[in-house]
Amino acid sequence: MALLVKKFGGTSVADIDRIRNVARRVVADYDQGHDVVVILSAMAGVTDGLIRLAREVTEFPDKRELDVLLATGEQTTAALLAMLLKSMNYPAESLLGFQAEVRTDAAFGNARILDIGAHRIRELLNARHIVVVAGFQGCDAKGNITTLGRGGSDTSAVAIAASLSADACEIFTDVDGVYTADPNVCSKARKLPRISYDEMLEMSSLGAKVLQIRSVEFAKKYNVPVHVRSSFSEEEGTMVVNADADMEKIVVTGVTSNKNEARITLKAVPDQPGIAAKIMTPIGEAGIIVDMIIQNPHSGGKTDLTFTVPKADYREALKIAERVGKEIDAEEVIGDEKIAKVSVTGVGMRSHHGVAARMFSTLAKENINIMMITTSEIRISCVIEEKYAELAVRALHSAFGLDGKNSDE
Ligand code: ADP
Ligand code: ASP
Ligand code: MG
Repeated sequence: MALLVKKFGGTSVADIDRIRNVARRVVADYDQGHDVVVILSAMAGVTDGLIRLAREVTEFPDKRELDVLLATGEQTTAALLAMLLKSMNYPAESLLGFQAEVRTDAAFGNARILDIGAHRIRELLNARHIVVVAGFQGCDAKGNITTLGRGGSDTSAVAIAASLSADACEIFTDVDGVYTADPNVCSKARKLPRISYDEMLEMSSLGAKVLQIRSVEFAKKYNVPVHVRSSFSEEEGTMVVNADADMEKIVVTGVTSNKNEARITLKAVPDQPGIAAKIMTPIGEAGIIVDMIIQNPHSGGKTDLTFTVPKADYREALKIAERVGKEIDAEEVIGDEKIAKVSVTGVGMRSHHGVAARMFSTLAKENINIMMITTSEIRISCVIEEKYAELAVRALHSAFGLDGKNSDE
């Protein structure tokens, strides 16, 4: 008999009918003799609603208290499912993050899982209980409640699967797998039967929110095969696994876009050693993560320095850039929130050339200007105007042969 970890996302537990659907799926496995651990998200929209409530109290809610509040979303669904299972005469018990011994650092709102004790989970499984764990939450060394960042229930599930050496970790969501592009943006996107951890890592970090990036990091580190599938059908979804030779043949497996970044440019700063450090040091000290950085020569021995930051940190980063800009005599500091990053990903890029050229010419054909470019071994990203994001995804999806059936270029 197998040990199964099954995670259901927000839309899968959006109301009581859907929670009944989850219960049906869970007991079907239990009745076959499997051990089942269920990880739940909050009902769709609840986490956003709680954040809005907190902002009605104060513009910058205390991060510790915000986590206490946000964790209630998952507490609600875990209790409801366990209650329902018990009413159906199944032995079940709900556990909050701290009861499942999900130990994290103290970075409220974005905590990292350090380790998982899972003694209680094991005890309950040994007694043939269905264990329902509230996702997205853990607790720090002092016993404070922490949350794992948006989309964090995926990470709860994979981390718990790893700590239990589960036979399978299934992520149930509102799409039936991982697609070559967001199926809600690109109607020609195709479901991938399999994707490698590395490709999924890139796609998650570039905007494919179907799996939180940290869940993929965990899966890769502990070799947990993850099955992404639909809550609403029995169809097989996508397996996220180690790369194999077949995967290397496909040059581009996915196209993503991300509107979560903003761009800041310091114009005409002195082209001298130490200038980039002067700008980036206070940004880093403020805990702001810089993604892309480029420097372009300006006339008269000066240079333009441009970088991107998460939109959530944009105002603060701009304030810092304006202050430093004055100190180093920059001509102007410009901010731009209306940008998008579009990317193509594929492990096959390691051994193929011409991908960048094809990406640039595709964007040029659509008259889309490229503002910044970055690459990794298995990815190329371009920053473009936000309004062209969807058009760019669809054009690149076609250009790399991902549309329809004849895709394995
Ligand atoms: P859940 O609430 O179940 O965690 P999410 O909303 O976090 O679900 O993630 C599922 C969503 O991810 C889909 O509805 C889809 O719009 C989006 N998505 C983005 N890129 C992709 C992709 N490449 N393949 C599948 N879904 C994607
Ligand atoms: N409820 C949390 C969120 O909306 C965590 C999750 O759904 O994975 O981000
Ligand atoms: Mg999610």
